[in-house]
Amino acid sequence: MRPVDIQPIGEELAVKWEDGSESFINLQLMRRACPCASCAGEKDIMGNLHKGPEATLQPNSFVLARFGIVGGYGFQPQWADGHNTGIFAFDHLKRLAELPNN
Ligand SMILES: [Zn+2]
Repeated sequence: MRPVDIQPIGEELAVKWEDGSESFINLQLMRRACPCASCAGEKDIMGNLHKGPEATLQPNSFVLARFGIVGGYGFQPQWADGHNTGIFAFDHLKRLAELPNN
């Protein structure tokens, strides 16, 4: 499923999907679910998880400065604190929207 329209609205990201359904994802939840290697960690070939130092999240870590669509499969937010290495695949966005604590 692909989005036809993505708009930040207040503290949420509103995503309109090609089937006409809409998802609203809390930006704070989204930043905490950032899939990039420094936030989520990376597994080596032995299966050990390597994570960078715990990121210090500030209020502007949850503010979306701008965003882009990459490779036709993912959403790349640029947060107001400068972080922009996380790419959320569209199905990941949809799963986040369906979380009970969203
Ligand atoms: Zn990240």
